[in-house]
Amino acid sequence: MTGAEAVVKGIAEDGGLFVPEKFPQVSPAEFEELCGMDYPERAAFILSKYFDEYDKEELLAATKEAYAQFEDGDAAPLVRLDNGMYMLELFHGPTCAFKDMALTVLPHLLRKGCDLLGIKEKILILVATSGDTGKAALEGFRDKEGVKIMVFYPDDGVSKMQKLQMCTTDGDNVNVVAVRGNFDDCQTGVKRIMNSETCKTLLKERGYLLSSANSINFGRLAPQIAYYFSAYCDLMTSDQITFGDKVDFCVPTGNFGNILAAYYAKEMGLPVGTLVCASNKNNVLTDFFASGNYNARRPFYKTMSPSMDILVSSNLERLLFELSGRNAEKTAERMKALSQSGKYSVTPAELAKTKGFYADYTDEDGTVECIYDFFMDYGYPMDTHTGVAMSVAQRYEEKRKKDDPKAEPVPMVVVSTASPYKFPQDVLYALTGNDVKDSFKGVKRIHLLTAMKVPESLKAIRYKTPRFKTVVGVDKMFEEVKKFL
Ligand SMILES: *Cc1c(COP(=O)(O)O)cnc(C)c1O
Repeated sequence: MTGAEAVVKGIAEDGGLFVPEKFPQVSPAEFEELCGMDYPERAAFILSKYFDEYDKEELLAATKEAYAQFEDGDAAPLVRLDNGMYMLELFHGPTCAFKDMALTVLPHLLRKGCDLLGIKEKILILVATSGDTGKAALEGFRDKEGVKIMVFYPDDGVSKMQKLQMCTTDGDNVNVVAVRGNFDDCQTGVKRIMNSETCKTLLKERGYLLSSANSINFGRLAPQIAYYFSAYCDLMTSDQITFGDKVDFCVPTGNFGNILAAYYAKEMGLPVGTLVCASNKNNVLTDFFASGNYNARRPFYKTMSPSMDILVSSNLERLLFELSGRNAEKTAERMKALSQSGKYSVTPAELAKTKGFYADYTDEDGTVECIYDFFMDYGYPMDTHTGVAMSVAQRYEEKRKKDDPKAEPVPMVVVSTASPYKFPQDVLYALTGNDVKDSFKGVKRIHLLTAMKVPESLKAIRYKTPRFKTVVGVDKMFEEVKKFL
């Protein structure tokens, strides 16, 4: 199995996820090299460790092109706040969420992968989204040769801004369809299409292969590893740490993709202290790390951090694999239990191996309070997902000090996953207590209040007319795929 195959296939025949055979290491000398590089070079360096059959120069050309689309010339800036914590801002890309970090690169990995494997067919990418992945995938694949991309989203399950972003996408190879139902209905619908014989026959007739842009694709995971190394290098080059010092990261988590990339970075030799896994009220992961029991059969809450409203965190499968001592059979059993009964457990010995993680959650009030406090105290506006992470990070730091008052301080990097302007109504509410109906009114008020620059990509869609208006029932999704091909 090569990196190219993992990216093109997306998921193994038996439904399992692809993992690296071993974790490539980054040596101290290589660290030194990394520190002298800019972001695209750092990203290409990390990618080449996993995609060793890809040409290094071509990888670099790909990351350069991808990250040139980010505003202000730095794709992953590290910002120091006055409370001593650091924000790793990953939202300066074309769609204002961290999904851009990987989805601007994935099309290159896929196209090059097809070349390496001698695949002649065109690629059809089907995406089920709760908002952020959809737009980032559309932007990543729009006008890319030999690819068509189709996104399904729940008609009532995305924010107004997310819907407008998706439905105004340009390009001849894109399609966006709203589904009457929730995110799970979209996801089940897409899976059903992917597995149906009728669909397979149709695709074969038309000369297409099916692939996925969801976060279970290894091609989404790999580019995410790079920014953890980059943040560490930035701390080194600004003399905040010396090589070998540990750094903690706090990640707002949904599908467990972003924080898993941090874990992979640690396995590659990055000196990571604790990985703080922050959840909202859908705190299935908090419970898992506390007890070793994963139970998705619980109430589902719609929160102001919708990209974290997830009860089945798909990428946790990759961590389970490591915890079990890389036992594929045992991992498959647990995944089967999850799909059949909604739950599984790990053994106490396996749970003990997760002590590098600390998991906690924040409710809606805690998120609002944190966003308000941080703006008032440090003048730093955060989006709702980042607010969850910051609130949990603060609680972690307090606990750490209480447990061991003499402990050496460890730098805390909080991963900021979206621009405050992407969730303007909720952010404005957190900052002022005011409700506005119109997203752009929210954008304007946040701008007046914070003077933070409004991303060009959001400005640009304000007066655009939505191109895509189709709304279908779950049973009509395949009809839409047929029309599109
Ligand atoms: C997708 C997303 C998350 C969750 O990331 P996972 O990789 O699914 O854990 C958090 N915040 C924002 C803004 C997102 O779009």
